[in-house]
Amino acid sequence: MLEVFVRLFEQGLIYRDYYITNWCPHCQTTISDIEVEHQDKPGQLYYIKYLSQDNPEDYIIIATTRPETMLGDVAVAVNPEDDRYLHLVGKTLILPIVGRELPVIADAYCDPTFGTGAVKMTPAHDPNDFEIGRRHGLPEIQVIDKKGKMNEQAGKYQGLDRWECRKRLVRDLEELGALVKVEDMSHAVGHCYRCNTAIEPMLSKQWFVKMKPLALPAIEAAKDGRISFIPERFTKIYLNWMENIRDWCISRQLWWGHRIPVYYCQDCEDMVASTVQITKCGKCGGKVEQDPDVLDTWFSSALWPFSTLGWPDKTPELEHFYPTSVLVTGRDIIFFWVARMIFSGLNFMEREPFKEVFIHGLVLDSQGRKMSKSLGNGVDPLDIIDSHGADSLRFMLITGNTPGNDLRFHFERLDGARSFANKIWNASRFVMMNLADYNPGAQGGEYNLADRWILSRLQGTAAEVTAYLERYELGEAARVLYEFTWSEFCDWYIELAKPSSLVKLRPRTG
Ligand SMILES: [Zn+2]
Ligand SMILES: [Zn+2]
Repeated sequence: MLEVFVRLFEQGLIYRDYYITNWCPHCQTTISDIEVEHQDKPGQLYYIKYLSQDNPEDYIIIATTRPETMLGDVAVAVNPEDDRYLHLVGKTLILPIVGRELPVIADAYCDPTFGTGAVKMTPAHDPNDFEIGRRHGLPEIQVIDKKGKMNEQAGKYQGLDRWECRKRLVRDLEELGALVKVEDMSHAVGHCYRCNTAIEPMLSKQWFVKMKPLALPAIEAAKDGRISFIPERFTKIYLNWMENIRDWCISRQLWWGHRIPVYYCQDCEDMVASTVQITKCGKCGGKVEQDPDVLDTWFSSALWPFSTLGWPDKTPELEHFYPTSVLVTGRDIIFFWVARMIFSGLNFMEREPFKEVFIHGLVLDSQGRKMSKSLGNGVDPLDIIDSHGADSLRFMLITGNTPGNDLRFHFERLDGARSFANKIWNASRFVMMNLADYNPGAQGGEYNLADRWILSRLQGTAAEVTAYLERYELGEAARVLYEFTWSEFCDWYIELAKPSSLVKLRPRTG
């Protein structure tokens, strides 16, 4: 993994930059875009009046759900075709309470039909504003610190928690007459997938993987069929993500993990990436310090198809097993894992890591909710194995669902699977009891009608099951096996074979 970091670093595909990232004030770490869960929360839309510097009669009303971030405003943006504001473009507004001068800029990003059509620009605390800010060369003023508290840039609100600051600021705006109105609305708020704290978009110095050059070959591989997804619809989901990919923030501020292999010289500010620990600067001989951050765990998971086979050494295992054939995985980690294995494999091995990706759904609770510790709706497979047996659990999980779709966990279905396991056990006992002294080689003989019927059904079932398995229709394959075993073999053939039956089962000896 350090090898991969250093190679990407030397290819110019890893860089360090101030960037707007998702910061969890509770976990005290950066988390990637896909680790943010968007939840609809009731909130308020605050309409705030920003007066023109030249003409206090003139103003722009800004609508925001996060008024506390206005302390970090550096501009106001409007759509270049929005007639309402054109006369103010290039002029200056005054940020209420703070008094900062804000230029009015024109950017096509602003949607004239959303809110008031004018958007406050807070590049240090909003990913869209960050992008626009970089386009227009706007300063980035951070007002919230890593604990979610207002910092020294927030003036008299310094030290307040971000939510407390919101309350006081709204009160002050109201007193000032700058608060036009407040509307209730529900909006999507990003939450940390680990601790459910509201994410704070935050400016910080992080390590990134430049994604565009890596994504292109990975897009090609799916388009030209070197890699195919089953079910097919996941190809579109994969392509859509890859085509709109943002650079991947790979640094994490955690206690565990692989430390980033970059060393900074304390004297000449030289920076090197190295797979081996170094203590002295190569340029000036000064003391170096290693970056304190660690790598995102997915950075190493992405290398799984070849690092497990001995890469970067040219091992016989790597030669023999790479590329592999089928990857079987859950739909929730297509972006976290599958996509990253694909572009890593293409970049380092120059071949796709697998040919087919079979995507299965998630096991949800009986109400269709994701199982989670906080909801307490999880099912421990070991408990089920104790009560119903491992075979019942396995059979229940592969039946009654289609590829890529989620499965609800119903205990009743487990009872059905257990009955089936019992059925097989009873049938096997019957067969073994009756065939205890049967020697197929010695006895030979001809088949009666029932024998010929069940053998033909067995052939038919085998062909059908094989066809389903080849299409990854595991649920259908299991259904066919179930029906054959239960309705044909057990209900008819075994009954026909019982000694009381008029038809004789055992091959007639010649
Ligand atoms: Zn968190
Ligand atoms: Zn140095």
